[in-house]
Amino acid sequence: MKIIVLKFGGTSVGTINRIKKVANIIGKYVKKKYKIIVISSAMSGVTNDLVNKSKKISKSFSNSEYDTLVSAGEQMSCSLIAGRLINKGFKSRSWMSWQIPIITEGKHKFSRIKKIYKKEILKYINSGGIPIIAGFQGVNFQNRITTLGRGGSDASAIMIAKFFNAEKCIIFTDVEGVYTTDPNKLKTAKKIKVISYEEMLEMASLGAKVMQPHSIQDARLNRIDIEVKSSFFINKSGTLITKKKNVITSKIITGITSTYNDAKVTLVGIKDRPGIAAAIFKPLSENLINVDMVVQNISANGKETDLTFTIKSEDLNKTKKIINENKKINVKDLLFDKNVSKVSIIGVGMVTTPGVTYRMFQALAKEKINIQVISTSEIKISVLINKKNIKKSILALHKEFKLNK
Ligand code: ADP
Ligand code: ASP
Ligand code: MG
Repeated sequence: MKIIVLKFGGTSVGTINRIKKVANIIGKYVKKKYKIIVISSAMSGVTNDLVNKSKKISKSFSNSEYDTLVSAGEQMSCSLIAGRLINKGFKSRSWMSWQIPIITEGKHKFSRIKKIYKKEILKYINSGGIPIIAGFQGVNFQNRITTLGRGGSDASAIMIAKFFNAEKCIIFTDVEGVYTTDPNKLKTAKKIKVISYEEMLEMASLGAKVMQPHSIQDARLNRIDIEVKSSFFINKSGTLITKKKNVITSKIITGITSTYNDAKVTLVGIKDRPGIAAAIFKPLSENLINVDMVVQNISANGKETDLTFTIKSEDLNKTKKIINENKKINVKDLLFDKNVSKVSIIGVGMVTTPGVTYRMFQALAKEKINIQVISTSEIKISVLINKKNIKKSILALHKEFKLNK
């Protein structure tokens, strides 16, 4: 019998009624004669609530205690699912990561799964049991509880699928699949039938919350097909995330994303000399501040110039402090803007189609949307715009690249 991994996200287990529905869905897959491994997120809102509590207790809450605290939500939902399955006559039990164990490496809050010990779970599924495994969490070599970054249950599901050599990994969520853009923000967004790992990775990294980026990296490395579908309408077909060669599309652009937590930093009047950019960015990188888009003006007088870059809004205060304390640079003025969003178009089709950049810029110009910074890679173009124009720009780009058809 083949193994199948079923992952349920926060909204899918958000209420007692939803958990009862989830138990029914699991029951259907048992009838299809699969051996099942279930991964669950915390009930929606629970993880956020725990994060807020940690902030109230201390402004510098310890990262290891953060992991112990915020991983607690999954314990509740897993136990409730197992309890319901037992009530329906199935053999089931919950498993926390440390009980399996699921070993992680890397920093607290952002750990990655390294190894999963399979013996106990295999014994359990072979005896007809349905294990309900807590997503998002692991345990490190120091025997401390870790977490995999927000949205990390997706990564748990993919890694379970890898280690157990599962035939399929189904991600049940609150939308019917991956759409051309967030369907909760644009009604005309269209469900994508099949998408490559590469495009999904870009979309997830650039703001499409539906899948956590690391989970897509893991799926791509291990060639695991993912099906994303709704736990609310389970008869509706979802989206298959798979290797490039399985994807046939005539579209130039596959999806559009936007971000809500970027901030722009501008250093005005810095010396235009070799080494200045390195002097600015070295202390930022030492403090683990991720610099994203960068643009440096060419100085008119050959002496001074301005440098603009983006970071995550949560790093803004730290960045201000680091720049102000940096003795290697002289800044005439330091400007910050939190009212920015990075809007991106993603698609492998742009590799072979000329003129995509021009079409994007023209579509935005027609709407009088000013582009502040631009960055590109082989399969994406990102622009930084004022936050107030997010909706307008997505609508214009969706139309320009015929994604509503
Ligand atoms: P879960 O709790 O099931 O993990 P998430 O909230 O993490 O669910 O992800 C699902 C949400 O992702 C959707 O409700 C939707 O608003 C958002 N989303 C953003 N971009 C997209 C997209 N391109 N396609 C589908 N959903 C998207
Ligand atoms: N509960 C965790 C979070 O809210 C993990 C997840 O939902 O995937 O980030
Ligand atoms: Mg999620």
